[in-house]
Order: sequence, then structure tokens, then C-alpha cells
Amino acid sequence: MAPAPLHASKLVVELTTSPKDVLANEDLVFGKTFTDHMLEIEWSKAEGWGTPKILPYHNFSFDPATVVFHYSFELFEGMKAYRDKDGNIRTFRTDKNMARMNRTAKRASLPSFDGEEFMKLIDKFLVVDQKFVPEGEGYSLYLRPTLIGTTAALGIRGPDRALLYVIASPVGPYFAKGFKPVSLEATDYAVRAWPGGVGEFKLGANYVSTIVPQEKAIENGHSQNLWLLGEEGYITEAGAMNVFFAFQTPDGKKELVTPPLDGTILPGVTRDSTLILAKEKLASDEWTISERALTIHEVIARAEKGELLEAFATGTAAIISPINNIEYRGTHITVPVEDNTSGPIAKKVNEWIRSIQYGEVEFKDWSRIAK
Ligand SMILES: *Cc1c(COP(=O)(O)O)cnc(C)c1O
Repeated sequence: MAPAPLHASKLVVELTTSPKDVLANEDLVFGKTFTDHMLEIEWSKAEGWGTPKILPYHNFSFDPATVVFHYSFELFEGMKAYRDKDGNIRTFRTDKNMARMNRTAKRASLPSFDGEEFMKLIDKFLVVDQKFVPEGEGYSLYLRPTLIGTTAALGIRGPDRALLYVIASPVGPYFAKGFKPVSLEATDYAVRAWPGGVGEFKLGANYVSTIVPQEKAIENGHSQNLWLLGEEGYITEAGAMNVFFAFQTPDGKKELVTPPLDGTILPGVTRDSTLILAKEKLASDEWTISERALTIHEVIARAEKGELLEAFATGTAAIISPINNIEYRGTHITVPVEDNTSGPIAKKVNEWIRSIQYGEVEFKDWSRIAK
């Protein structure tokens, strides 16, 4: 028999007998508490995708030789479920997350699956654990789809067993008291990704090496590091977020720039949404929206000429994280912000995206209601 595809209609649900208390909004800490249940689906090369299960949240038990522990056969996604004013639970552009997860799975010799079938299961999971989707602006339920190789053998080869699962953690706004701009230290002794590498995939293996540069940036009084690439000093990402710069141009116009998807950049859903919304909503006689390479040296030179208008990072966790300072080899680049919060474009983009996520504004088919 051919290996079975992933099929949502096969779902079985086993409800918990010890439901957890729902924490008050002010007690929520990102990624520390989880909902009552989890979604999981086993895969084997011979049989394909097994029965999808929503089960009480539980520990795993794996043989110590399991490949996930040795060769990083692990990838993940990050997305959120939002409660709208009518009480519906919404997710945002999850087709993009599903496509990215499948691209990453293929690169990691892990099994791919029908993203829409997986989303139907995630919808069911959201309905089962709906009491954990918080109400209130900026509150959401963070979803962590994860795929691991579970073959118990030390040979370095593609796993013939895998486990796809989802856990969920209720979270509050990244900036609880309005925007707080971040200071970045440009890292010049390590790179996050390189041409021909795997920087464009959400592989767990991409994150372990980012902690030391991040810790060093914090030691030096910054919030995060800015990743550069090559002798040219190409700007790639800010921490685990994509990055945008706004410049005044000599012709009296303005340019919003983000590095191109050349394989060294994680293709963020928030990045893509920012580009689409900026092209749609910023006046085209005033603004050019560019995906192009830019270096730290260009940013320094243009800041000195007074042409640097704004910089911000994008990602699901914060939506927008305004930047007010960048340090590179002792040079401080001051990035303008209004009232110590953010620049005007960061504020606008944040509001455009937030209002779609919470269902206040319908835009294309970007918002999905869990049923
Ligand atoms: C997840 C991630 C992002 C942001 O992606 P979104 O889809 O916008 O959340 C950016 N950079 C890195 C390295 C990431 O892991």
C-alpha cells in the first residue's frame, strides 16, 4: 500500500481529565505555560502519516539514540491565534507558514504534508483549547508546530520515522507599555547564514549558534545583535527578525528597504506582509519599496548625511520592533524615533498588520477563523 497522506478527517480527540487554570493576562510569560492539549501525528516511511491525535499535554519518551538528539533533525514554525471582538479565533496567513514548513522539511530530509490538512487539525486544536486564547489587544495564543526525526539509530541518514506536533502558549504583547525601541550591536565575528547554507529555513540548528552573539550584545548594553554577512558587511537580519530601513533619497523621495531573499534571509511572513502593505498603502509618488542588498557602511554613510529616517525589525512575536541605535566597531548610528517610541512607518505597519490579525480589517484572504 502507498504511504498514507496526512488527513484531518482521521482525527481522534482524547480530552484531559485534569484541566489547567487559565492564567490572568498579566501573568502570561512567553513560552512558559501551555494549554491543556497538544496535537500530534506520527509518520513512518512505510506507512506515511498516521492517525492525527489531540491528546492531553504530555512528555515524550524517546530512545537516547533518536536522531533528533544527535543530528538536529528538527524544524519549527511560529504563528499566533488571535481573539477578535466577536469572540472568533483567527490565524494570520498560515498558508505561508505551512509552505515554509514544508520547504524546510524537504531540506531536512523530513516528511512533507498537505498544509491545508494540517491547518484543519490546528483549527480543531484551537477549538478544543479555546479557553486559552486570551482576549485583549496584543494578547494571543502562540502556536509552535514542530517536526522531529524519531528514528532510533546513530547512522547519519534521513529518518524513516518522524513526529509532527503542535503545542500552544498564551502570550501577552511584546511591548506591554507601547513601543520601546531597541539598540543593536552589529556582529562582525560570526555569521548567522551564508550563501548556499540553510539560513532561509526554520531549522532548529540555525538558532543554537545565535545565542553567544546575542549574549555579547546584551553584555555591551544592547538588546539584540544585527547580523552582517561578508567583507562588504551586508545587513541580513536583526536577532531572529527581518529588518527594514527607511531613507530619504536625493530626488526628494523616500525608500523603504529590506534585504532580498537570496537564501541567507529567513522569509518572514511579517516581512512579506510589510512589503505588500507598504506597496499598497504608502503613496507611490513619495515612496519606493525595495528588496535590495544594503551594507552597514551604506547605513553609516546615510545616517551621517541625515538621510536615515527609520529602522525596524519584523516578526510574528513583536510584529514590529523599532530600532533607535546601532553600534558597529565603535561607531554609533543614531536612528530617529518619535517620543522614544518608534518612527512613523513602524507605527503604521504595526497597526495595519495588527488590525488584520484581530479581524478589525479584512485584507485579501489573510485572516482565517478556526472552526
Ligand atoms: C521566524 C523568524 C523570522 C520572522 O518570521 P515571521 O514569519 O515573520 O515570524 C525572521 N528571522 C528568523 C531568523 C526567524 O527565525
